[in-house]
Amino acid sequence: MTSGFLEDASFNQSPAFGNVDLFRADKPLSEAAARYGLDLAALSACGKDYGSAETLDLGRVANENPPKLRTMDGKGDRIDLVEFHPAYHALMVKSIGWGIHSSAHDGSDPAGPMTSRAVRLYLATQAESGHLCPVTMTHACIGALQAEPALLEKWRSKILSRRYDPRPLPWWEKDGVTLGMGMTERQGGTDVRANITEARTVGDHVEISGHKWFMSAPMCDAFLVLAQGGDGLTCYLMPRYRPDGRQNGLRFQRLKDKLGNKSNASSEVEFHSAYAERVGPEGAGVRTIIEMVNLTRLDCAIASAGQMRFGLSQALNHIRNRSVFQRRLADQPAMRAVTADLALELEAQVALVFRLAHAVDKGEAAYARLLTPAVKFLVCKSTPQVVYESLECLGGNGYVEDLPMARLYREAPLNAIWEGSGNVMALDVLRAAARQPDAALETVASLARLASQAFDVRPLVSALERTLKSPDAERRVRFLCEGLARIAALAALAEANSPFASLYGETRLDGLRLTQFGTADLGAAETALMDRALAA
Ligand SMILES: Cc1cc2nc3c(=O)[nH]c(=O)nc-3n(C[C@H](O)[C@H](O)[C@H](O)COP(=O)(O)OP(=O)(O)OC[C@H]3O[C@@H](n4cnc5c(N)ncnc54)[C@H](O)[C@@H]3O)c2cc1C
Repeated sequence: MTSGFLEDASFNQSPAFGNVDLFRADKPLSEAAARYGLDLAALSACGKDYGSAETLDLGRVANENPPKLRTMDGKGDRIDLVEFHPAYHALMVKSIGWGIHSSAHDGSDPAGPMTSRAVRLYLATQAESGHLCPVTMTHACIGALQAEPALLEKWRSKILSRRYDPRPLPWWEKDGVTLGMGMTERQGGTDVRANITEARTVGDHVEISGHKWFMSAPMCDAFLVLAQGGDGLTCYLMPRYRPDGRQNGLRFQRLKDKLGNKSNASSEVEFHSAYAERVGPEGAGVRTIIEMVNLTRLDCAIASAGQMRFGLSQALNHIRNRSVFQRRLADQPAMRAVTADLALELEAQVALVFRLAHAVDKGEAAYARLLTPAVKFLVCKSTPQVVYESLECLGGNGYVEDLPMARLYREAPLNAIWEGSGNVMALDVLRAAARQPDAALETVASLARLASQAFDVRPLVSALERTLKSPDAERRVRFLCEGLARIAALAALAEANSPFASLYGETRLDGLRLTQFGTADLGAAETALMDRALAA
Protein backbone atom coordinates (compact mmCIF):
# COMPACT_ATOMS: atom_id res chain seq x y z
CA MET A 1 0.00 0.00 0.00
CA THR A 2 1.49 3.36 -0.97
CA SER A 3 0.77 6.69 0.65
CA GLY A 4 0.57 8.59 -2.64
CA PHE A 5 3.15 11.05 -1.31
CA LEU A 6 5.97 12.39 -3.51
CA GLU A 7 8.48 9.76 -2.36
CA ASP A 8 6.18 6.94 -3.34
CA ALA A 9 6.08 8.24 -6.90
CA SER A 10 9.81 7.65 -7.42
CA PHE A 11 9.32 5.63 -10.58
CA ASN A 12 8.90 6.54 -14.23
CA GLN A 13 11.34 9.45 -13.86
CA SER A 14 14.36 9.50 -16.14
CA PRO A 15 17.71 9.12 -14.34
CA ALA A 16 19.96 12.14 -13.89
CA PHE A 17 22.15 12.75 -16.92
CA GLY A 18 25.79 12.44 -15.85
CA ASN A 19 28.95 10.33 -15.89
CA VAL A 20 28.63 10.11 -19.65
CA ASP A 21 31.53 10.19 -22.12
CA LEU A 22 30.18 13.10 -24.13
CA PHE A 23 32.59 12.28 -26.95
CA ARG A 24 31.94 8.57 -27.43
CA ALA A 25 28.19 8.91 -26.82
CA ASP A 26 27.96 11.33 -29.75
CA LYS A 27 28.45 9.41 -33.00
CA PRO A 28 28.27 12.38 -35.40
CA LEU A 29 31.02 14.00 -33.33
CA SER A 30 33.30 11.00 -32.87
CA GLU A 31 32.96 10.09 -36.55
CA ALA A 32 33.91 13.65 -37.54
CA ALA A 33 36.94 13.44 -35.26
CA ALA A 34 37.94 10.10 -36.81
CA ARG A 35 37.49 11.54 -40.31
CA TYR A 36 39.98 14.27 -39.55
CA GLY A 37 42.51 11.93 -37.93
CA LEU A 38 42.24 13.36 -34.41
CA ASP A 39 43.41 11.66 -31.21
CA LEU A 40 40.20 9.84 -30.25
CA ALA A 41 41.45 8.52 -26.90
CA ALA A 42 42.44 12.01 -25.76
CA LEU A 43 39.10 13.44 -26.84
CA SER A 44 37.27 10.66 -25.06
CA ALA A 45 39.12 11.55 -21.83
CA CYS A 46 37.95 15.13 -22.33
CA GLY A 47 34.39 13.92 -23.01
CA LYS A 48 34.39 11.97 -19.75
CA ASP A 49 35.71 14.92 -17.81
CA TYR A 50 33.05 17.39 -19.01
CA GLY A 51 30.35 14.70 -18.87
CA SER A 52 31.03 13.71 -15.28
CA ALA A 53 28.22 14.39 -12.83
CA GLU A 54 30.62 16.53 -10.82
CA THR A 55 31.53 18.81 -13.75
CA LEU A 56 27.93 19.16 -14.87
CA ASP A 57 27.03 20.21 -11.36
CA LEU A 58 29.76 22.86 -11.40
CA GLY A 59 27.86 24.34 -14.33
CA ARG A 60 24.68 24.55 -12.30
CA VAL A 61 26.40 26.07 -9.25
CA ALA A 62 28.38 28.63 -11.28
CA ASN A 63 25.12 29.93 -12.74
CA GLU A 64 23.17 29.91 -9.51
CA ASN A 65 25.91 32.08 -7.96
CA PRO A 66 26.61 34.82 -10.50
CA PRO A 67 29.64 37.11 -10.24
CA LYS A 68 29.56 40.27 -8.16
CA LEU A 69 31.17 43.59 -8.94
CA ARG A 70 33.08 45.41 -6.23
CA THR A 71 33.99 48.86 -7.53
CA MET A 72 35.49 50.15 -4.26
CA ASP A 73 36.82 48.84 -1.00
CA GLY A 74 35.28 49.80 2.32
CA LYS A 75 37.36 52.99 2.44
CA GLY A 76 36.24 54.22 -0.95
CA ASP A 77 39.36 53.34 -2.95
CA ARG A 78 38.70 51.95 -6.44
CA ILE A 79 39.38 48.24 -6.72
CA ASP A 80 37.22 47.34 -9.77
CA LEU A 81 37.16 43.63 -8.99
CA VAL A 82 34.64 41.01 -9.97
CA GLU A 83 34.25 38.10 -7.59
CA PHE A 84 33.29 34.69 -8.95
CA HIS A 85 32.04 31.58 -7.20
CA PRO A 86 34.61 28.77 -6.75
CA ALA A 87 32.57 26.66 -9.20
CA TYR A 88 33.38 29.19 -11.94
CA HIS A 89 37.07 29.07 -11.07
CA ALA A 90 36.97 25.25 -11.10
CA LEU A 91 35.52 25.32 -14.62
CA MET A 92 38.19 27.80 -15.71
CA VAL A 93 40.94 25.55 -14.31
CA LYS A 94 39.49 22.70 -16.34
CA SER A 95 39.06 24.52 -19.67
CA ILE A 96 42.41 26.30 -19.47
CA GLY A 97 43.91 22.94 -18.46
CA TRP A 98 42.43 21.33 -21.59
CA GLY A 99 44.06 24.10 -23.61
CA ILE A 100 40.85 25.39 -25.18
CA HIS A 101 42.45 28.85 -25.14
CA SER A 102 45.83 27.72 -26.46
CA SER A 103 46.00 24.39 -28.23
CA ALA A 104 45.25 25.78 -31.69
CA HIS A 105 48.45 27.81 -31.40
CA ASP A 106 50.92 25.77 -29.32
CA GLY A 107 51.54 22.82 -31.64
CA SER A 108 50.10 20.26 -29.24
CA ASP A 109 47.57 18.88 -31.77
CA PRO A 110 49.49 18.57 -35.03
CA ALA A 111 46.83 16.39 -36.71
CA GLY A 112 44.23 19.15 -36.58
CA PRO A 113 44.92 22.05 -34.24
CA MET A 114 41.68 23.92 -34.90
CA THR A 115 39.51 20.82 -35.24
CA SER A 116 40.77 19.09 -32.07
CA ARG A 117 40.27 22.23 -30.10
CA ALA A 118 36.82 22.68 -31.63
CA VAL A 119 35.86 19.25 -30.31
CA ARG A 120 36.99 20.19 -26.81
CA LEU A 121 35.10 23.48 -26.96
CA TYR A 122 31.98 21.64 -28.12
CA LEU A 123 32.34 19.24 -25.17
CA ALA A 124 33.10 21.94 -22.60
CA THR A 125 30.11 24.08 -23.54
CA GLN A 126 27.83 21.17 -22.68
CA ALA A 127 28.93 21.44 -19.07
CA GLU A 128 28.80 25.25 -18.94
CA SER A 129 28.92 28.00 -21.54
CA GLY A 130 29.53 31.22 -19.60
CA HIS A 131 33.08 30.55 -18.45
CA LEU A 132 34.08 29.84 -22.05
CA CYS A 133 33.72 33.52 -22.93
CA PRO A 134 37.23 34.50 -21.71
CA VAL A 135 38.59 31.15 -22.90
CA THR A 136 37.44 31.68 -26.48
CA MET A 137 38.55 35.34 -26.47
CA THR A 138 42.01 34.35 -25.24
CA HIS A 139 42.25 31.80 -28.06
CA ALA A 140 41.08 34.36 -30.61
CA CYS A 141 43.22 37.31 -29.48
CA ILE A 142 46.23 35.65 -31.08
CA GLY A 143 44.57 36.39 -34.44
CA ALA A 144 44.67 40.14 -33.82
CA LEU A 145 47.99 40.21 -31.95
CA GLN A 146 49.69 38.68 -34.98
CA ALA A 147 49.49 42.18 -36.43
CA GLU A 148 52.02 43.27 -33.78
CA PRO A 149 54.61 40.45 -33.59
CA ALA A 150 56.80 42.02 -30.88
CA LEU A 151 53.82 42.54 -28.58
CA LEU A 152 52.57 39.01 -29.22
CA GLU A 153 56.01 37.64 -28.42
CA LYS A 154 56.01 39.51 -25.11
CA TRP A 155 52.67 38.03 -24.08
CA ARG A 156 52.75 34.66 -25.86
CA SER A 157 54.01 32.39 -23.06
CA LYS A 158 51.52 33.84 -20.56
CA ILE A 159 48.66 33.49 -23.06
CA LEU A 160 49.53 29.91 -23.95
CA SER A 161 50.12 28.82 -20.32
CA ARG A 162 47.71 26.10 -19.19
CA ARG A 163 47.68 27.41 -15.64
CA TYR A 164 44.63 29.44 -14.73
CA ASP A 165 45.65 32.26 -12.43
CA PRO A 166 42.75 34.44 -11.23
CA ARG A 167 44.87 36.62 -8.94
CA PRO A 168 44.46 40.37 -9.55
CA LEU A 169 48.12 41.02 -10.36
CA PRO A 170 50.07 42.63 -13.21
CA TRP A 171 50.20 40.17 -16.10
CA TRP A 172 53.95 39.62 -15.92
CA GLU A 173 53.66 38.36 -12.34
CA LYS A 174 51.03 35.75 -13.20
CA ASP A 175 51.31 32.07 -14.16
CA GLY A 176 48.85 32.52 -17.03
CA VAL A 177 46.55 35.20 -18.40
CA THR A 178 43.21 35.62 -20.14
CA LEU A 179 42.29 38.31 -22.67
CA GLY A 180 39.00 39.98 -23.53
CA MET A 181 37.68 42.36 -26.16
CA GLY A 182 35.99 45.77 -26.01
CA MET A 183 34.38 46.99 -29.23
CA THR A 184 30.73 47.71 -28.49
CA GLU A 185 29.80 51.21 -27.32
CA ARG A 186 26.50 52.51 -26.09
CA GLN A 187 25.63 54.32 -29.31
CA GLY A 188 26.67 51.49 -31.62
CA GLY A 189 27.84 47.88 -31.59
CA THR A 190 27.67 46.61 -35.14
CA ASP A 191 28.75 50.00 -36.41
CA VAL A 192 32.04 50.26 -34.54
CA ARG A 193 33.14 53.10 -36.79
CA ALA A 194 30.76 55.20 -34.71
CA ASN A 195 32.98 54.59 -31.63
CA ILE A 196 33.64 57.80 -29.70
CA THR A 197 36.30 56.44 -27.33
CA GLU A 198 39.57 58.23 -28.02
CA ALA A 199 43.25 57.32 -27.82
CA ARG A 200 45.85 60.03 -27.21
CA THR A 201 49.52 59.33 -27.89
CA VAL A 202 51.72 59.76 -24.82
CA GLY A 203 55.36 58.86 -25.53
CA ASP A 204 55.57 55.18 -26.58
CA HIS A 205 51.96 54.32 -25.76
CA VAL A 206 48.45 55.76 -25.81
CA GLU A 207 46.05 56.76 -23.06
CA ILE A 208 42.44 55.87 -23.81
CA SER A 209 39.40 57.75 -22.52
CA GLY A 210 35.83 56.72 -23.16
CA HIS A 211 33.67 53.69 -22.49
CA LYS A 212 32.45 50.28 -23.64
CA TRP A 213 28.82 49.29 -23.25
CA PHE A 214 29.49 45.57 -23.27
CA MET A 215 32.86 44.25 -22.17
CA SER A 216 32.63 40.69 -20.99
CA ALA A 217 34.93 38.81 -18.66
CA PRO A 218 36.18 42.01 -16.99
CA MET A 219 38.68 40.09 -14.88
CA CYS A 220 40.75 39.37 -17.97
CA ASP A 221 44.34 40.56 -17.74
CA ALA A 222 44.12 42.67 -20.89
CA PHE A 223 41.58 43.67 -23.54
CA LEU A 224 41.80 44.31 -27.24
CA VAL A 225 39.99 47.62 -27.49
CA LEU A 226 38.92 49.79 -30.40
CA ALA A 227 39.34 53.55 -30.07
CA GLN A 228 39.72 56.55 -32.36
CA GLY A 229 43.42 57.27 -32.84
CA GLY A 230 44.93 60.11 -34.85
CA ASP A 231 44.24 58.31 -38.15
CA GLY A 232 40.90 56.78 -37.24
CA LEU A 233 39.65 53.66 -35.54
CA THR A 234 42.57 51.64 -34.20
CA CYS A 235 43.03 48.45 -32.18
CA TYR A 236 44.89 48.63 -28.86
CA LEU A 237 45.94 46.21 -26.14
CA MET A 238 44.86 47.56 -22.75
CA PRO A 239 46.28 45.70 -19.71
CA ARG A 240 44.61 45.85 -16.29
CA TYR A 241 47.84 47.12 -14.75
CA ARG A 242 50.13 49.82 -16.09
CA PRO A 243 53.81 48.96 -16.68
CA ASP A 244 54.74 50.56 -13.33
CA GLY A 245 52.42 48.08 -11.57
CA ARG A 246 49.66 50.56 -10.77
CA GLN A 247 46.07 49.64 -11.57
CA ASN A 248 45.14 50.86 -15.06
CA GLY A 249 42.27 53.33 -15.59
CA LEU A 250 39.47 50.78 -16.12
CA ARG A 251 36.40 51.69 -14.09
CA PHE A 252 33.62 49.14 -14.16
CA GLN A 253 30.28 50.90 -13.81
CA ARG A 254 28.04 47.88 -13.44
CA LEU A 255 27.55 44.29 -14.57
CA LYS A 256 24.77 43.54 -17.03
CA ASP A 257 21.72 41.75 -15.68
CA LYS A 258 21.43 39.27 -18.53
CA LEU A 259 18.80 36.85 -19.77
CA GLY A 260 21.25 33.96 -19.47
CA ASN A 261 25.00 33.50 -19.45
CA LYS A 262 24.76 34.14 -15.72
CA SER A 263 28.12 32.70 -14.70
CA ASN A 264 29.94 35.12 -16.99
CA ALA A 265 30.29 38.79 -16.09
CA SER A 266 29.61 41.37 -18.79
CA SER A 267 30.51 44.89 -17.77
CA GLU A 268 29.82 48.47 -18.65
CA VAL A 269 33.17 50.16 -18.30
CA GLU A 270 34.75 53.57 -18.50
CA PHE A 271 38.36 54.16 -19.45
CA HIS A 272 40.02 57.00 -17.61
CA SER A 273 43.28 57.73 -19.45
CA ALA A 274 43.90 54.01 -19.52
CA TYR A 275 47.34 52.87 -20.67
CA ALA A 276 47.32 50.87 -23.93
CA GLU A 277 49.61 49.80 -26.77
CA ARG A 278 48.72 49.93 -30.45
CA VAL A 279 48.02 46.65 -32.28
CA GLY A 280 48.34 46.85 -36.06
CA PRO A 281 48.48 50.04 -38.11
CA GLU A 282 46.76 53.19 -36.95
CA GLY A 283 43.37 53.57 -38.60
CA ALA A 284 43.20 49.83 -39.36
CA GLY A 285 41.30 48.86 -36.21
CA VAL A 286 38.54 46.93 -37.92
CA ARG A 287 40.95 45.06 -40.21
CA THR A 288 43.09 44.13 -37.17
CA ILE A 289 40.36 43.03 -34.77
CA ILE A 290 38.45 41.14 -37.48
CA GLU A 291 41.21 38.52 -37.27
CA MET A 292 40.06 37.93 -33.69
CA VAL A 293 36.39 38.18 -34.56
CA ASN A 294 36.65 35.56 -37.32
CA LEU A 295 37.92 33.07 -34.75
CA THR A 296 35.25 33.93 -32.20
CA ARG A 297 32.56 33.65 -34.91
CA LEU A 298 33.70 30.10 -35.59
CA ASP A 299 33.60 29.47 -31.83
CA CYS A 300 30.02 30.77 -31.64
CA ALA A 301 28.99 28.13 -34.18
CA ILE A 302 30.92 25.32 -32.48
CA ALA A 303 29.57 26.21 -29.04
CA SER A 304 26.01 26.51 -30.31
CA ALA A 305 26.29 23.06 -31.89
CA GLY A 306 27.42 21.78 -28.48
CA GLN A 307 24.44 23.42 -26.80
CA MET A 308 22.04 21.79 -29.25
CA ARG A 309 23.72 18.44 -28.69
CA PHE A 310 23.33 18.76 -24.93
CA GLY A 311 19.65 19.65 -25.28
CA LEU A 312 19.02 16.69 -27.52
CA SER A 313 20.91 14.38 -25.14
CA GLN A 314 18.66 15.51 -22.29
CA ALA A 315 15.59 14.85 -24.44
CA LEU A 316 16.72 11.37 -25.46
CA ASN A 317 17.73 10.46 -21.93
CA HIS A 318 14.26 11.43 -20.80
CA ILE A 319 12.12 9.81 -23.47
CA ARG A 320 13.99 6.52 -23.24
CA ASN A 321 13.10 6.31 -19.56
CA ARG A 322 9.65 7.85 -19.36
CA SER A 323 6.44 6.02 -20.19
CA VAL A 324 3.15 7.66 -21.03
CA PHE A 325 0.02 5.53 -21.52
CA GLN A 326 2.10 2.43 -20.65
CA ARG A 327 4.44 3.02 -23.53
CA ARG A 328 7.94 4.45 -23.50
CA LEU A 329 7.98 7.90 -25.07
CA ALA A 330 10.91 6.76 -27.19
CA ASP A 331 8.57 4.20 -28.76
CA GLN A 332 5.73 6.60 -29.47
CA PRO A 333 5.61 7.53 -33.17
CA ALA A 334 4.91 11.24 -32.69
CA MET A 335 7.82 11.60 -30.25
CA ARG A 336 10.17 9.61 -32.47
CA ALA A 337 9.32 11.93 -35.34
CA VAL A 338 10.36 14.96 -33.27
CA THR A 339 13.60 13.63 -31.82
CA ALA A 340 14.71 11.96 -35.05
CA ASP A 341 14.20 15.24 -36.89
CA LEU A 342 16.25 17.06 -34.25
CA ALA A 343 18.93 14.38 -34.54
CA LEU A 344 19.00 14.78 -38.34
CA GLU A 345 19.51 18.50 -37.91
CA LEU A 346 22.41 17.79 -35.56
CA GLU A 347 23.94 15.24 -37.96
CA ALA A 348 24.17 17.99 -40.55
CA GLN A 349 25.16 20.89 -38.35
CA VAL A 350 27.85 18.93 -36.51
CA ALA A 351 29.28 17.76 -39.84
CA LEU A 352 29.18 21.37 -41.03
CA VAL A 353 30.92 23.06 -38.09
CA PHE A 354 33.73 20.52 -38.00
CA ARG A 355 34.10 20.76 -41.78
CA LEU A 356 34.57 24.49 -41.30
CA ALA A 357 37.14 23.99 -38.52
CA HIS A 358 38.92 21.52 -40.81
CA ALA A 359 38.94 24.15 -43.59
CA VAL A 360 40.75 26.52 -41.22
CA ASP A 361 43.28 23.78 -40.41
CA LYS A 362 43.86 23.10 -44.08
CA GLY A 363 44.13 26.75 -45.06
CA GLU A 364 41.10 26.57 -47.37
CA ALA A 365 40.82 30.35 -47.27
CA ALA A 366 37.98 30.85 -49.75
CA TYR A 367 35.78 28.24 -48.03
CA ALA A 368 36.49 29.65 -44.57
CA ARG A 369 35.87 33.25 -45.64
CA LEU A 370 32.52 32.59 -47.29
CA LEU A 371 31.26 29.93 -44.92
CA THR A 372 32.24 31.29 -41.48
CA PRO A 373 29.43 33.89 -41.37
CA ALA A 374 26.97 31.55 -43.10
CA VAL A 375 27.64 28.69 -40.68
CA LYS A 376 27.46 31.01 -37.69
CA PHE A 377 24.13 32.28 -39.00
CA LEU A 378 22.57 28.85 -39.50
CA VAL A 379 23.95 27.07 -36.43
CA CYS A 380 23.47 29.85 -33.89
CA LYS A 381 19.99 30.69 -35.15
CA SER A 382 18.94 27.04 -35.08
CA THR A 383 19.98 26.67 -31.44
CA PRO A 384 16.97 28.28 -29.71
CA GLN A 385 14.62 26.19 -31.88
CA VAL A 386 16.42 22.92 -31.23
CA VAL A 387 16.85 23.62 -27.53
CA TYR A 388 13.20 24.62 -27.21
CA GLU A 389 11.95 21.42 -28.88
CA SER A 390 14.33 19.35 -26.75
CA LEU A 391 13.07 21.14 -23.64
CA GLU A 392 9.49 20.29 -24.52
CA CYS A 393 10.41 16.59 -24.78
CA LEU A 394 10.96 16.66 -21.01
CA GLY A 395 7.47 18.00 -20.42
CA GLY A 396 7.10 20.10 -17.29
CA ASN A 397 10.49 19.01 -15.98
CA GLY A 398 12.06 20.79 -18.95
CA TYR A 399 10.76 24.11 -17.65
CA VAL A 400 12.19 24.07 -14.14
CA GLU A 401 15.52 25.38 -12.95
CA ASP A 402 16.59 22.18 -11.15
CA LEU A 403 17.39 20.58 -14.50
CA PRO A 404 19.75 22.10 -17.10
CA MET A 405 17.19 22.77 -19.85
CA ALA A 406 15.94 26.09 -18.50
CA ARG A 407 19.49 27.44 -18.29
CA LEU A 408 20.29 26.11 -21.74
CA TYR A 409 17.18 27.76 -23.15
CA ARG A 410 18.22 31.14 -21.76
CA GLU A 411 21.73 30.69 -23.13
CA ALA A 412 20.60 29.58 -26.58
CA PRO A 413 20.02 32.96 -28.33
CA LEU A 414 23.30 34.53 -27.25
CA ASN A 415 25.79 33.23 -29.80
CA ALA A 416 23.60 34.54 -32.61
CA ILE A 417 23.95 38.09 -31.20
CA TRP A 418 27.61 37.93 -30.28
CA GLU A 419 30.29 38.81 -32.78
CA GLY A 420 27.81 39.94 -35.39
CA SER A 421 24.06 39.30 -35.26
CA GLY A 422 22.04 37.43 -37.88
CA ASN A 423 21.64 40.18 -40.46
CA VAL A 424 25.23 41.22 -40.01
CA MET A 425 26.38 37.67 -40.74
CA ALA A 426 24.15 37.41 -43.77
CA LEU A 427 25.42 40.76 -45.10
CA ASP A 428 28.98 39.57 -44.50
CA VAL A 429 28.35 36.61 -46.81
CA LEU A 430 27.22 39.11 -49.43
CA ARG A 431 30.33 41.21 -48.84
CA ALA A 432 32.62 38.20 -49.17
CA ALA A 433 30.93 37.24 -52.45
CA ALA A 434 31.24 40.81 -53.76
CA ARG A 435 34.91 41.18 -52.81
CA GLN A 436 36.08 37.87 -54.24
CA PRO A 437 33.39 36.83 -56.70
CA ASP A 438 35.49 34.19 -58.50
CA ALA A 439 36.55 32.46 -55.29
CA ALA A 440 32.97 32.58 -53.99
CA LEU A 441 31.52 31.13 -57.19
CA GLU A 442 34.13 28.39 -57.22
CA THR A 443 33.35 27.51 -53.58
CA VAL A 444 29.61 27.39 -54.27
CA ALA A 445 30.14 25.29 -57.40
CA SER A 446 32.26 22.78 -55.53
CA LEU A 447 29.76 22.63 -52.64
CA ALA A 448 26.93 22.13 -55.14
CA ARG A 449 28.81 19.29 -56.86
CA LEU A 450 29.35 17.51 -53.55
CA ALA A 451 25.82 18.15 -52.28
CA SER A 452 24.28 16.93 -55.53
CA GLN A 453 25.72 13.47 -54.91
CA ALA A 454 22.99 13.19 -52.27
CA PHE A 455 20.25 15.52 -53.48
CA ASP A 456 19.75 17.70 -56.52
CA VAL A 457 20.51 21.22 -55.32
CA ARG A 458 20.55 22.79 -58.80
CA PRO A 459 17.19 24.56 -58.37
CA LEU A 460 18.37 26.10 -55.09
CA VAL A 461 21.75 27.10 -56.54
CA SER A 462 20.01 28.76 -59.51
CA ALA A 463 17.67 30.63 -57.19
CA LEU A 464 20.62 31.80 -55.11
CA GLU A 465 22.50 32.95 -58.21
CA ARG A 466 19.48 34.84 -59.53
CA THR A 467 18.98 36.53 -56.17
CA LEU A 468 22.66 37.38 -55.81
CA LYS A 469 22.66 39.13 -59.20
CA SER A 470 19.36 40.93 -58.62
CA PRO A 471 19.04 44.46 -57.20
CA ASP A 472 17.16 42.79 -54.36
CA ALA A 473 20.15 40.93 -52.95
CA GLU A 474 20.35 42.92 -49.69
CA ARG A 475 16.66 42.49 -48.91
CA ARG A 476 16.90 38.75 -49.67
CA VAL A 477 20.19 38.30 -47.88
CA ARG A 478 18.93 35.78 -45.30
CA PHE A 479 17.70 33.58 -48.13
CA LEU A 480 21.16 33.72 -49.67
CA CYS A 481 22.87 33.03 -46.37
CA GLU A 482 20.73 30.16 -45.16
CA GLY A 483 20.57 28.67 -48.65
CA LEU A 484 24.37 28.65 -48.84
CA ALA A 485 24.73 27.22 -45.33
CA ARG A 486 22.21 24.45 -46.06
CA ILE A 487 24.03 23.47 -49.25
CA ALA A 488 27.30 23.43 -47.31
CA ALA A 489 25.70 21.26 -44.61
CA LEU A 490 24.49 18.81 -47.23
CA ALA A 491 27.91 18.85 -48.88
CA ALA A 492 29.55 18.14 -45.51
CA LEU A 493 27.26 15.13 -45.03
CA ALA A 494 27.90 13.91 -48.58
CA GLU A 495 31.65 14.32 -48.17
CA ALA A 496 31.44 12.26 -44.98
CA ASN A 497 29.45 9.54 -46.80
CA SER A 498 26.66 10.03 -44.30
CA PRO A 499 23.70 7.68 -44.78
CA PHE A 500 21.49 10.66 -43.91
CA ALA A 501 22.67 13.04 -46.60
CA SER A 502 19.80 12.41 -49.03
CA LEU A 503 17.25 12.54 -46.24
CA TYR A 504 18.62 15.90 -45.14
CA GLY A 505 18.32 17.22 -48.69
CA GLU A 506 14.80 15.89 -49.13
CA THR A 507 13.54 17.28 -45.81
CA ARG A 508 15.39 20.60 -45.77
CA LEU A 509 15.91 21.65 -49.35
CA ASP A 510 13.01 20.25 -51.33
CA GLY A 511 10.70 22.99 -52.60
CA LEU A 512 13.02 25.65 -51.17
CA ARG A 513 11.22 25.71 -47.82
CA LEU A 514 13.79 27.26 -45.55
CA THR A 515 13.11 27.70 -41.90
CA GLN A 516 14.50 30.95 -40.59
CA PHE A 517 12.43 34.11 -40.47
CA GLY A 518 13.53 36.36 -43.29
CA THR A 519 14.12 33.60 -45.84
CA ALA A 520 10.62 33.82 -47.34
CA ASP A 521 10.05 36.21 -50.25
CA LEU A 522 7.17 38.37 -49.05
CA GLY A 523 7.59 40.97 -51.79
CA ALA A 524 5.31 44.01 -51.58
CA ALA A 525 3.44 42.62 -48.57
CA GLU A 526 6.34 43.52 -46.27
CA THR A 527 5.30 47.09 -45.53
CA ALA A 528 1.67 46.24 -44.89
CA LEU A 529 2.64 43.41 -42.58
CA MET A 530 4.97 45.61 -40.55
CA ASP A 531 2.53 48.52 -40.35
CA ARG A 532 -0.28 46.26 -39.20
CA ALA A 533 1.93 44.73 -36.51
CA LEU A 534 2.77 48.10 -34.91
CA ALA A 535 1.22 51.29 -36.23
CA ALA A 536 4.02 53.52 -37.56
C1 LIG B 1 26.01 38.85 -23.08
C2 LIG B 1 26.71 39.75 -24.04
C3 LIG B 1 28.08 39.92 -23.93
C4 LIG B 1 28.76 40.76 -24.80
N1 LIG B 1 30.12 40.91 -24.65
C5 LIG B 1 30.78 41.77 -25.47
C6 LIG B 1 32.20 41.97 -25.33
O1 LIG B 1 32.86 41.35 -24.50
N2 LIG B 1 32.79 42.88 -26.13
C7 LIG B 1 32.11 43.58 -27.08
O2 LIG B 1 32.71 44.38 -27.77
N3 LIG B 1 30.77 43.40 -27.24
C8 LIG B 1 30.10 42.50 -26.47
N4 LIG B 1 28.74 42.32 -26.64
C9 LIG B 1 28.03 43.14 -27.60
C10 LIG B 1 27.60 42.45 -28.87
O3 LIG B 1 28.70 42.02 -29.63
C11 LIG B 1 26.70 43.44 -29.61
O4 LIG B 1 25.53 43.60 -28.81
C12 LIG B 1 26.35 43.00 -30.99
O5 LIG B 1 27.49 43.05 -31.82
C13 LIG B 1 25.23 43.87 -31.63
O6 LIG B 1 25.50 45.21 -31.48
P1 LIG B 1 24.40 46.21 -30.87
O7 LIG B 1 23.95 45.65 -29.58
O8 LIG B 1 24.94 47.58 -30.85
O9 LIG B 1 23.19 46.14 -31.87
P2 LIG B 1 22.99 46.99 -33.20
O10 LIG B 1 24.29 47.14 -33.90
O11 LIG B 1 22.22 48.21 -32.89
O12 LIG B 1 22.07 46.00 -34.05
C14 LIG B 1 20.68 45.81 -33.79
C15 LIG B 1 20.10 44.86 -34.82
O13 LIG B 1 20.26 45.42 -36.11
C16 LIG B 1 20.79 44.46 -37.02
N5 LIG B 1 21.61 45.16 -38.02
C17 LIG B 1 22.79 45.78 -37.85
N6 LIG B 1 23.23 46.27 -39.02
C18 LIG B 1 22.29 45.99 -39.97
C19 LIG B 1 22.14 46.27 -41.37
N7 LIG B 1 23.09 46.91 -42.04
N8 LIG B 1 21.02 45.83 -41.99
C20 LIG B 1 20.07 45.16 -41.33
N9 LIG B 1 20.15 44.87 -40.01
C21 LIG B 1 21.23 45.29 -39.34
C22 LIG B 1 21.62 43.52 -36.14
O14 LIG B 1 21.71 42.24 -36.76
C23 LIG B 1 20.79 43.50 -34.87
O15 LIG B 1 19.80 42.49 -34.99
C24 LIG B 1 28.05 41.46 -25.81
C25 LIG B 1 26.67 41.28 -25.93
C26 LIG B 1 26.00 40.44 -25.07
C27 LIG B 1 24.53 40.27 -25.22
